[in-house]
Amino acid sequence: MGKTLSNQTVNAASLFLVATPIGNLADISSRALQVLAEAAWIAAEDTRHSKHLLQHYAITTRVLAYHQHNEARQTPILIDRLHQGQSIALVSDAGTPLVSDPGYRLVRAALQDDIRVVPVPGACAAIAALSASGLPTDRFVFEGFPPARQGSRLNFLKALSAEQRTLVFYVSCHRLLDTLQDMLAVFGGARQAVVARELTKAFETIRKARLDDLVDWVRGDPNQQRGEMVVLIEGASEHGDQDQEHVAKLLTVLVDELPLKQAAIIASRLTGLNKNDLYKQALGLNNNKR
Ligand code: SAM
Repeated sequence: MGKTLSNQTVNAASLFLVATPIGNLADISSRALQVLAEAAWIAAEDTRHSKHLLQHYAITTRVLAYHQHNEARQTPILIDRLHQGQSIALVSDAGTPLVSDPGYRLVRAALQDDIRVVPVPGACAAIAALSASGLPTDRFVFEGFPPARQGSRLNFLKALSAEQRTLVFYVSCHRLLDTLQDMLAVFGGARQAVVARELTKAFETIRKARLDDLVDWVRGDPNQQRGEMVVLIEGASEHGDQDQEHVAKLLTVLVDELPLKQAAIIASRLTGLNKNDLYKQALGLNNNKR
């Protein structure tokens, strides 16, 4: 049997990838609820977390744990159950499984064994944020979570500085300000940027501004550093990418040798760019050195 994944060609148990809400419990499809109710097992990233959703919808299917710490051990067990004819619905804590969540190993193993894999689509924070961001949506790249350590994070961002597609990141609230400051240092202040926070929840906030203004706004309001967030950055302009890389390098050298204000004035004379914008960018670079 080929890997056609169509209803007609496969007549055995299936692995369902079921999207669950990212905050608002009503954001789940009737098909998802049906699959969760009818599967033999629900494999959940956090069983206690998912029980809240299941109780809300009076779903009594047996739940087992499938998360990043047990996926190597659990994958063959789940594949065995699928071979025995038991369908499994995989859910993560929120949104679409496998999107910055466990499941890849299981899906790969299922496909290798010609087990049918069925997506049951629904909420995904990255897509919800992108759709409401006001940034170009025709081409985008999802980069997941930037590295936690600043050195690696700066290198990671630098590798994206010439990317022309809209950039989409997941950012933990504890690292929001540091990450935005690093983005400012690498991408410059003039790019449009968006913080989409607490989507579908009571304190949903979607803020779009120039990156430098967005950093100031987040810094000035600690409430914006709470909850869950997606950060989006406008892609580089066709020529701006090289210019921006050049400006970032120039500022890095000047900031090493001179007070910030002087570094910004000299960079402004050399590049013709706005002195205040360069000062803000230099400030970001300086914060990063600490
Ligand atoms: N699989 C999920 C999805 O489809 O969106 C993402 C899981 S990832 C472990 C969790 C991250 O998604 C959070 O740290 C945050 O960046 C983002 N996220 C999840 N829910 C969100 C929400 N309601 N508002 C904004 N961002 C959210």
